[in-house]
Parts: sequence; C-alpha cells; structure tokens
Amino acid sequence: MSCTLHGTGVSGGIAIGRAHLVSHAKLEVAHYLVPLHQVAEESARFEAAIYQVRAELEELRAEIPATAPPEFTAFINLHLMILSDATLSVVPRQVIENEQCNAEWALRVQMDALLAQFDEIEDEYLRERKADVIQVVERVMKALSGQPGYIPPPTRDDAEQNLILVARDLSPADVVQFKQHQFASFVTDLGGTTSHTAVVARSLAIPSIVALHRARQLVREAELVIVDGAQGVLIVDPDDQVLAEYRRRQHEFEIGRQKLKRLRDRPAVTLDGVPVDLQANIELPADVIEARENGAAGIGLFRSEFLFLNRPDLPDEDEQFEAYRKVTEDMGGMPVTIRTYDLGADQHADPGRVITNPALGLRAIRLCLTEPQRFVTQLRAMLRASHYGKINVLIPMLATAVELDQTLTLIEQAKRKLDDESVPYDRNIQVGGMIEVPAAALALDIFTRKLDFLSIGTNDLIQYTLAIDRTDDTVAHLYDPLHPAVLNLLAHIIKSAAKSKTPVALCGEMAGDIVLTRLLLALGLRQYSMHSAHLLDVKQVILGTDLSKLRPLAQKMLRTPDPVKLRALLERINA
Ligand code: PEP
Ligand code: MG
Repeated sequence: MSCTLHGTGVSGGIAIGRAHLVSHAKLEVAHYLVPLHQVAEESARFEAAIYQVRAELEELRAEIPATAPPEFTAFINLHLMILSDATLSVVPRQVIENEQCNAEWALRVQMDALLAQFDEIEDEYLRERKADVIQVVERVMKALSGQPGYIPPPTRDDAEQNLILVARDLSPADVVQFKQHQFASFVTDLGGTTSHTAVVARSLAIPSIVALHRARQLVREAELVIVDGAQGVLIVDPDDQVLAEYRRRQHEFEIGRQKLKRLRDRPAVTLDGVPVDLQANIELPADVIEARENGAAGIGLFRSEFLFLNRPDLPDEDEQFEAYRKVTEDMGGMPVTIRTYDLGADQHADPGRVITNPALGLRAIRLCLTEPQRFVTQLRAMLRASHYGKINVLIPMLATAVELDQTLTLIEQAKRKLDDESVPYDRNIQVGGMIEVPAAALALDIFTRKLDFLSIGTNDLIQYTLAIDRTDDTVAHLYDPLHPAVLNLLAHIIKSAAKSKTPVALCGEMAGDIVLTRLLLALGLRQYSMHSAHLLDVKQVILGTDLSKLRPLAQKMLRTPDPVKLRALLERINA
C-alpha cells in the first residue's frame, strides 16, 4: 500500500530500494520465510542458541560464591527450568519446520502463548514469574542474534546496495557494524538527531531517517521504498511518476557530489583571506580513508570508544596502540586528536546494569576515573602511539577541576612509567578537554588554565543546556542550536578561549551543518571537526564567505531572543 511517512532526516541524499526489516530490541523480531532447503539449518540455529543459554546459566550457577544468598541459586534454577519447558525449547523447532519461518519468530510466538497461560493463573507469585519467562527468552534471542543488531538475510536475492534497512531502533554499536556493509540506507522509528546512532549514520554517508514512528509496522519486507534523507521523508510503494522524479533527484545529487570533489585539495580560506582548519571525526581506523578522500587537515575527533563495542572482551594496550598508530601513520603526519573512551551513555559500558538516567550517570571521564586501570591502559596506548605521529589526547565530558586534576595526574603517572620502561612517546603531547557540560562552559578558566586546547561538543552541550535527551525522538524537535542560551554559551566559550590563547575547535554535529558554518565563523570559530561526508560542503561555504560583513549580524543574533527574528538574521548571514 502506497504511503508517505515523515521523520527526522539525519543524513541527506536519496536512496531507492527494497525494504529489509531488521530488529534490535531483543523481543522485537522480524518475521520472514526461510527457504525450504535452509529450514534444517534454521532449526539447528535455534537448538544451538538453547544449548548456549543453558551453558551460560549453568556457568553462572557454578560461579555463585558460597556466601551468596540461597535465592541466587534458586533464581538460576528457575530460569533453567523455564528454558527446559518444551513450549520454549522444543515446540519452536516444530514451528520453524511447519511454518518455514525464522527461529526468532517461532520463539516469539511460543513465548506469547506461554505468557497468555500465565495470565490465567490465579496465584500471584506464579503470575509474576512472567518476567522470568521474558528474561529467559531475551537470553535466547541474544544468543540467536550472535550480536546486537543482527541483520537477518533478506528474503530475496537483492544486493546490499539495493537494501533499505527498516528498524524500530538501532544502537550505535549496530550502526557502526553497517560500515562493513553497503546498504543503501536505513530508517528507524525511534532515535534523536544527535544520538550516537544518528551521528554514526552521518559518517556512513548514506541517506537515513530517524523518528518515523510507524515505519516498522507499515512497511513490509521487500517493498519498494524511497528515502529522502534531507527531507526526512519515506515513501512506501511509490507510483511510477514519483519514482521517476526521485530517480532524477538522486542523479542530480550524485552529480553535485562529484563536482564537490574538485575542492579536495583547495585550502579552506574565506574570500577575505581567513584560513579555517577543517578536520574529520572518525569512529574506526578505517574511516581515515574517507577523511583523506575528502581533504581533512587532520582528525579532530577519534571516538575511541567504538573500539570497545561489538565484542565480548576489551581491547588490550597493544591492540589499542596498533589502532592509534595506524590512524596517525595513515594521516601522514597530520594531527590526530583521540578522545579517551566515552562509554556509559547510549553506548553502554555494562549492558547488564539498569541505569535510570545514563546521560547524567557514570559516563565518559567519570567512568574512566572509576576504572583507573582500564583508563591507564588506554592512556599508555595513546602515549606510545604518539611517538609515530602527532597525537593529541582529548578528555570527554569534563565538569569539575577535580576530574581534570585526576586525569592529568594519571597521564603524568603513565608517562613516568613509560620513562622507566624506556618506551618512547611525544613529550610535548597536547592534552585537551571537551566542553560539553554547561558548567564547564561557564567556568571555562578552570580548564583553560591547565589544558592545551578545547573542543566543543555541541551534541552534549545542547542536550545538557536544553535538558533534552539526545536519544529520545519525542523531544528531538526541541533540539535547537539557535536557542539564545546555546548561541551565547558558544560565543562565550570561543571568546574566553581566545582571551586565554587556548585553541578551540567544535566537533559536534553543528560543525558539519552548512546552515551554521558562517554563523560559527562570525562568532570566531576557526577549527571545525565533522564527519568526512560534510567536509567539502562546509569548505564550499567557507570559500564563498566574506567574513568582514558577517560579524555585526552574528553579534545581533546573540542579542535577539525572538526565534523568528533569529532565523531571519541567519538567512541574511547565509544570503
Ligand atoms: C558532542 O557531544 O558534541 C560530541 C562531539 O561527542 P559525542 O557526540 O560523541 O557525544
Ligand atoms: Mg559528547
């Protein structure tokens, strides 16, 4: 059935292809038919998952310390019993075979049947055991997926380039996995525009939309869909006329992209001769290729936490060292700013722990400082890699002087230890801090006194200033980089940094938004770091900017509370 859905575009461009439904939430599963010759394999996949979960639970039981309360063992025994119930462990195999469906679906159907029986039970204790059934099924789902964000094979023989993934929600870890694929696009029902999921989506340079609300429900597997990433529009089952129009637009978009490539080696300088430093944000070492293809003058933000995702263990010092060294070497002497891991918010450090308010919780530097050993491992890896190029260390989410002092002490200790071991490192390595908490922005002196540089993380700065959860699509419309509080905070940071002669960059999503390029220039920003896909667009704007005319307009914007007048002023800046 033809229909059009509106969401929030997070990465521009147009994709036309077949929908492929994927799941992330453990119990939100896709239903698809398994070809007859693969049914036995599907059934074996299910059996292996049950086996794996049984082994996991038995291992958990064996590890319970003797001092633990007896309920612990009883709890695991209960889960083992639920797992052994034929409804969950045997009947799904019959469902797979009879209905030729995927294992997840068969399990889900059986779980629903079992839960319905629980509803009939009078005994309250037994009725409450529903939650245990769900937990056991979640474990099996996880084992079935092998990893979060498991992408089931498509039902048709479509090449990945023709597939548009449709999901209810995806985690940043899921999306970063897409880097190994070549999907045409992805769209989700949930998610905010500056969530890490959206941030990584932009780095894939494929059109994508979040907050569509009902796409997963309305779109069917293999249905033809159009994704207009710039407008945030998803067209399902378009007619021939609409299809032809979007093919034309897609072609034009591609021509525009090709033309921009000519700017790759042009220095980014305004018409009145002001040079601007344009660097790239990356998540993985392989992203350097794209950064170089788009003429990045360095890596302004390496989100090192992505090295920690999608794996059961932690990368050790040598593995991290190799990753950091590779990035610096591949950047051929250009600066590489590596952010120490920022885990704990929408990129969970500990998926087993329920956190009420992760963005305000034990995240980023707070988490690092509670795990000094893990943190020092990373610092040592960075220091060692600094011998092979120009590495800067960037500390995320600083809010207090104590955090900064503790971090600097740990860096000093790591240096002394390397000295003792005669391991070389860059003795002039620069240490910078991310300004993404309003408290840090307002008390900037605490940080400029002791740091070599600053980098403004507007994604978080806006989240914390306007009190809007980055990951929550229901408040995504409130994300507003032009809010007077945000603009004045930015102006304050840039001005105070200049006064203390501390270099300041901006590495949030604002840096790659061409609508804001000139305004930021006029506020005094000279260093931008963004996903590679935006570098040439931003450079094009800079090349056509006469800065001398813009400063008064930007100053006026800082004094204008009225949103309509603000937009009008911005239009004049961009005219
Ligand atoms: C930011 O907060 O703006 C930023 C660049 O960091 P991240 O998006 O990884 O939180
Ligand atoms: Mg941040």
